[in-house]
Amino acid sequence: MAYDFDLFVIGAGSGGVRAARFAAGFGAKVAVAESRYLGGTCVNVGCVPKKLLVYGAHVADELEQAAGFGWTLEEGHFDWGTLIANKNREIERLNGIYRNLLVNSGVTLLQGHARITGANEVEVEGQRYTAATILIATGGWPQVPDIPGKELAITSNEAFYLKALPRRVLVVGGGYIAVEFAGIFQGLGADTTLLYRGDLFLRGFDGSVRTHLKEELEKRGMDLQFNADIQRIDKLDDGSLKATLKDGRELVADCIFYATGRRPMLDNLGLENTGVELDPRGFIRVDEQFQTTEPSILAIGDVIGRVQLTPVALAEGMAVARRLFKPEQYRPVDYQNIPTAVFSQPPIGTVGLTEEQALAAGHKVQIFESRFRAMKLTLTDIQEKTLMKLVVDAETDKVLGCHMVGPDAGEIIQGLGIALKAGATKQQFDETIGVHPTAAEEFVTMRTVTR
Ligand code: FAD
Ligand code: NDP
Repeated sequence: MAYDFDLFVIGAGSGGVRAARFAAGFGAKVAVAESRYLGGTCVNVGCVPKKLLVYGAHVADELEQAAGFGWTLEEGHFDWGTLIANKNREIERLNGIYRNLLVNSGVTLLQGHARITGANEVEVEGQRYTAATILIATGGWPQVPDIPGKELAITSNEAFYLKALPRRVLVVGGGYIAVEFAGIFQGLGADTTLLYRGDLFLRGFDGSVRTHLKEELEKRGMDLQFNADIQRIDKLDDGSLKATLKDGRELVADCIFYATGRRPMLDNLGLENTGVELDPRGFIRVDEQFQTTEPSILAIGDVIGRVQLTPVALAEGMAVARRLFKPEQYRPVDYQNIPTAVFSQPPIGTVGLTEEQALAAGHKVQIFESRFRAMKLTLTDIQEKTLMKLVVDAETDKVLGCHMVGPDAGEIIQGLGIALKAGATKQQFDETIGVHPTAAEEFVTMRTVTR
C-alpha cells in the first residue's frame, strides 16, 4: 500500500524535530504535526527559558561580589517584566529557527492537534494522513497532586509567564524543577520556601551532593521545609494563598509553585484506536528500538518516561531516524553515564554512579571528596563552598562517578562525561595536567582517599 508519508511524527519537540529532520535528510517523506509550539517543552517552557531566568537570578551573585573587586554600584533594581519580555523575544526567534530547520529539510509541517485513528493513520484538523510509521514524540505535562485548591497553584508552564515576581513563593517538590525554580525566585528577590515530602531533596543524586546543596541553600537564606506536604490550599481575602500542611501547620505565600513530576502527554491522542500499551507508570511501553506494542508505531522522549532530558530525546530521535532510513549508521542509545546538571544556585553537575549506587552494585569504592572556597570568593565575604567528589572502583581503579556542586558545574561535568565514557581510571585523572587556576583542576588533583 502506498502511504502519504514514510514517517509521521507527532510533536515538534526535542525528539520529534530531531527524528523528522534526519529522516527527511536520509531521503524519507516526512510530516510533523505540532499543536502548541515549535521546539516543544525545552525551547518554550523548559531548558531554554529556565536557563535564561537562571542567568537573570545569578546576576544578583555578581552584584553581591562586585564590592570586593572595587566596584561601587548604585542600588540595583530588578524588573521582572523586562526579563520576561526579553526571554519571550528570544523564544520567538528560536521558534522561527525550528520552523526553518524543518521546512528547509523538506519536512511537511502541519499545525494542529494530531489524533491517531488507526495503526497507519493520523488525523490533524479534520484531514487524515497515512504513514508507514508513526512516531509519537508528544512529551510530558506537569502533574499536580489532587488536593483541594490545586487550581490555585501554578506549575513551570505558568511560571514563565507570570505578570510580576511574587513577593513570597512556596515551591513544592524536591526534583530538578523545584530546586531550579526555588533558586530563580530567591535569586531574583522573592522570599522563597522549598517544601519537600521526604527527608532530603534530590532523591537519586549522590548523598554528599544533596547535603551540600541543602547547606548552601540555607546559607543563602532559603527556607527549606523537609518531611512536609500540603493538604489543602485556600485563597485569603487579601489575595494571598494559605497552604495547610498535613501536620496542621499553615504557610502563607503569594504564589504556590508545584514541581511534583511530569506525566506523559497522551491527551486525545487516540491510542485506543491502536494496540499501543502503557507501562505500569502510564508511559508508553517500547522495546530497545522504541517500537511500541503496535508494530507501525514508535515512541521516544519524555512520553516513554526513561530519562526525561533533551539530549536523551535527541539521541532517541536520531536512533529512530537512522534505524528506519539509514540502518548502516544505526547505533543504539547508550543510557550509561549520562551527564546532567541541575541549574540550582549553586549548580550541580553529575555523571556516573553515586556513592550509594556504586555500593549497591557491589563495587568496593574509594571516595575522593574536596570542599573549598572558590578563588573568586576570596576577595568577598561570601562563604559559599564548592564540592567535588570522585567515586572510584578500588579494584579496577576506574572512575565510576564524578559529582560537583559549585559555579559552572554543568560546564565542567560535560568534559568528565567523555572521560567516563572512555572508561578513564583514577590514575589517568591524576596524570592529566590541570588548568590553573580553575576550580575544575581539583578533579585531577584530589590525591587523598576520603573514605
Ligand atoms: P517535548 O519537547 O515536550 O515535545 C513534545 C511536543 O509535542 C510539544 O511541542 C507538544 O505541544 C507536542 N504535542 C503533544 N501532543 C500533541 C498532539 N496530540 N498533536 C500534536 N502535537 C502534540 N532537559 C534538559 O536536558 N536540560 C534542562 O535544563 C531541562 N530543563 C527543563 C526545565 C523544565 C521547566 C522542564 C519542564 C523540562 C526541562 N527539561 C530539561 C526536560 C526537557 O524539556 C524534556 O526532556 C524534553 O523537552 C523532551 O523532549 P520530547 O521531544 O520528548 O517532548
Ligand atoms: P522530578 O521527577 O525530578 O521530581 C519530582 C519531585 O516531586 C520529587 O521530589 C518527588 O518526590 C516529588 N513528588 C512527586 N509526587 C509528589 C506528590 N504527590 N506530593 C509531593 N511531592 C511529590 O520532576 P520535576 O517535575 O522536577 O522534573 C521533571 C523532569 O524534567 C526531571 O526528572 C528531569 O528529567 C527533567 N528536567 C531536567 C532538568 C535539567 O536537566 N536541568 C531541569 C528540569 C527538569 P520523591 O522524590 O519523594 O518521589
